[in-house]
Amino acid sequence: MRLLIIGGSDAGISAAIRARQLDPSISVVVVLRDAYPNYSICGIPFFISGETADWTNLAHRSLVEIEETGIEIRSNAHVLRLNPESKEVLVGDSSGRSESMKYDRLILATGAQPVVPSLEGLSQPGVFQIRWMEDALALARFVDQRKPRRAAIVGAGYIGLEMADALTKLGIEVSLIQRSSQVLKTLDPELGGAVKSELERHGVRVLTGRPPESIQGNGDTLLVLGPEGLAVEADLVLVVTGVQPQAALAADAGAATGIQNAIKVNRRMRTSLTDVFAAGDCVETWHRLLETFVYLPLGTTAHKQGRVAGENAAGGQAVFADSLGTQVVKVFDLVAARTGLLNREALEAGFQPLSIKKELWDHKAYYPGAKKLIVHLTGDRESGRLLGAQIWGPYGAEISKRIDILAAGLYAGLNVQDLPEMDLSYTPPLSSPWDPVQMAALSWLDEKARIR
Ligand SMILES: Cc1cc2nc3c(=O)[nH]c(=O)nc-3n(C[C@H](O)[C@H](O)[C@H](O)COP(=O)(O)OP(=O)(O)OC[C@H]3O[C@@H](n4cnc5c(N)ncnc54)[C@H](O)[C@@H]3O)c2cc1C
Repeated sequence: MRLLIIGGSDAGISAAIRARQLDPSISVVVVLRDAYPNYSICGIPFFISGETADWTNLAHRSLVEIEETGIEIRSNAHVLRLNPESKEVLVGDSSGRSESMKYDRLILATGAQPVVPSLEGLSQPGVFQIRWMEDALALARFVDQRKPRRAAIVGAGYIGLEMADALTKLGIEVSLIQRSSQVLKTLDPELGGAVKSELERHGVRVLTGRPPESIQGNGDTLLVLGPEGLAVEADLVLVVTGVQPQAALAADAGAATGIQNAIKVNRRMRTSLTDVFAAGDCVETWHRLLETFVYLPLGTTAHKQGRVAGENAAGGQAVFADSLGTQVVKVFDLVAARTGLLNREALEAGFQPLSIKKELWDHKAYYPGAKKLIVHLTGDRESGRLLGAQIWGPYGAEISKRIDILAAGLYAGLNVQDLPEMDLSYTPPLSSPWDPVQMAALSWLDEKARIR
């Protein structure tokens, strides 16, 4: 059996490895457009900041390690067309030559591409988007050669924030420009406000509610212009305004598409085309709480979906267990995390949300280094079902692992009152007899009893 995989990043390589693991007799070929199979693009901000000095360390696995598993990697090979009837794809290389490749089963793992905002002047030197390793290497070269003193970042989602942190660490003055009134608008405004304060505390100029309209070049200087006198001078502009699925190859071949034109898949990662699977940032995903399709592109999801696609392409019956949108970001010394639904999202989805906010010590205050963190917990006031949480506080307060406790609770369909009963670990340097997430749950239960 010949399994062809288009895409050599998180989803594609996870799929390839799983298929070979289950059946070493399968011929697995991975075709990717660039020259960087299995790189952790999530690590790009840390390479730019210099915290990860050598870009080759961003590889999850080296090419040799991948090829040792029997997987064939075809880099710099761009799939131009898919013909599901004849089960072949047309692949072009950098010299303009093309060849046809046959498959018995195909996995589409073509990922996402940056959203290109309607902003004049995007294609001039000094303006970058950040998605691929090439982008990262080009930006690193620019920073090294041109030594920019000022940077403007358009877009204050998690990549914009991580890049603001990275460039500040290089001694570059950063202005962060955001169309909407809040940074990280996928979180509650209060948490967005905490992130904004952290940025400002480190010298980042944050300009919210200002949709930039153009980038004008004047010699080596760039000027980002917008309404209400927005005029930011910079030597470097990053445009990071979100991503959209790369699904045109599948759509042109007749595959069904859904939210934001992402490829439609079932929970076994099958597309509507015979023997064609898809996984990662190019597909829509089922939300476990909302019980509807959403577009939630994340590396965590891409790895899991890729594994399921690889298993099923090899003849298995694996099922992807849905998304909860669990995510975390570190901005300077602040960590912000969420899982499940925000209060407003729960309300829109027809739940009767009750949310509480609690400030708590990460471990017993008598042990040195205790840090305050904030837990924002949402549950359904009628059924008691846990619906979501946000946690934020200083780096080192184990925020990501605490949000993961709640993500595990959501996955298991727990009620808020189950949380204090969980047998969690405790020693004074690391937690309290009631972990902060349990204390937040107790407060939620008190609040629920109070408003009855
Ligand atoms: C700066 C940054 C930071 C991030 N941080 C995090 C984080 O902290 N946590 C997290 O969960 N997620 C994070 N993400 C998101 C995460 O990286 C993506 O969700 C993940 O990479 C998606 O994997 P994928 O395999 O679906 O697609 P992609 O990584 O987009 O890879 C797509 C692959 O398909 C190939 N391809 C596409 N079209 C073709 C074609 N026509 N022919 C041949 N090959 C093709 C590409 O070359 C590539 O190999 C971050 C992303 C970025 C850019």
